[in-house]
Amino acid sequence: MRDAMRDAEVGDDVCEEDPTVNRLQELAARMIGKDASLFVPSGTFANQCAIGVLIRPGDEVIVSETAHLVEHEAGAAAALSGAHVRAVTPTRRSYLTAEDVAPRLRIFEDVHCPRTGLVVLENALSDGTVMPVEEMSRVRALAAAHRVPVHLDGARLFNAALALGVDVREICAQADTVAFCLSKGLGAPVGSLLSGTAEFVRQARRRRKIMGGGMRQAGVLAAPGIVALTDGLARLEEDHRLARLLARRLAGIPGVVLDLASVQTNMVYCHLRGQGKSEEELVRFLEQRHILVYPPSTWGIRFVTSLEVDEEGVEAAVGAVADYLTS
Ligand SMILES: *Cc1c(COP(=O)(O)O)cnc(C)c1O
Repeated sequence: MRDAMRDAEVGDDVCEEDPTVNRLQELAARMIGKDASLFVPSGTFANQCAIGVLIRPGDEVIVSETAHLVEHEAGAAAALSGAHVRAVTPTRRSYLTAEDVAPRLRIFEDVHCPRTGLVVLENALSDGTVMPVEEMSRVRALAAAHRVPVHLDGARLFNAALALGVDVREICAQADTVAFCLSKGLGAPVGSLLSGTAEFVRQARRRRKIMGGGMRQAGVLAAPGIVALTDGLARLEEDHRLARLLARRLAGIPGVVLDLASVQTNMVYCHLRGQGKSEEELVRFLEQRHILVYPPSTWGIRFVTSLEVDEEGVEAAVGAVADYLTS
């Protein structure tokens, strides 16, 4: 990727003249089956850019309360787009079903009520699981019947496709607009893509400018993104395999509570049970051994496998958790 950055041909992308950025955007659009794509600085940026284009201030955005958009984007939808975020508790573990969305759609024009502006889905989900394509399709059909667009936060889209055993295009066909990250599992240092119709991307380009995301010679950042989309995908299968291995090994340690069925991508969540051991303390214990995990949240402590983690690393993590629990 560093070689690709050094060798990248560049131009002024604000004037749409950076050949490397253009190549990345065309590649991404083709791969996910949308008309056009726009290179943006981050996944949060991609989601917020989409919201800014798709809604008017005061419009309601229907989204799961566990979504990244609700939990991890610093209130940006309200701050930047005046979104009235309707954070819904999903009846399933973490994704919204058509039954969750249906009663929240504002079907009648009423001066008292916000208008429903957008439904946001996530796949893969923040809890490491995936949303079935059929359920996405049901939500999409429901929203479309009321002319409400659907945005897919597909930060980890390619992990979702792998776990579901489908082409990414099948997932993306269930949403009007799609955001996905080149960083994270695909291994690029920076960047995300926001995709949709050519007209949507034309408006998103303007919105990106408003948000200060118009980057000039951005080809040096797009070049590793192209590497990510051509060479990075093959690695995901190994990440998923190592996550399952890690989960099985952790589940075998007395005091660890883990739902193996929830390990569908490259994330493993677990809780500790009994013995006066604390999850916060385990995180600090692991850190001393240079094993970095996410602190406890809704689903427990989070372990993630990526191209920086090999089987030896998995065994080291398992050994460290066992050591903590017997210390
Ligand atoms: C990581 C992530 C994002 C945002 O990505 P950043 O590049 O960190 O802003 C958005 N949604 C989901 C589900 C994510 O996992």
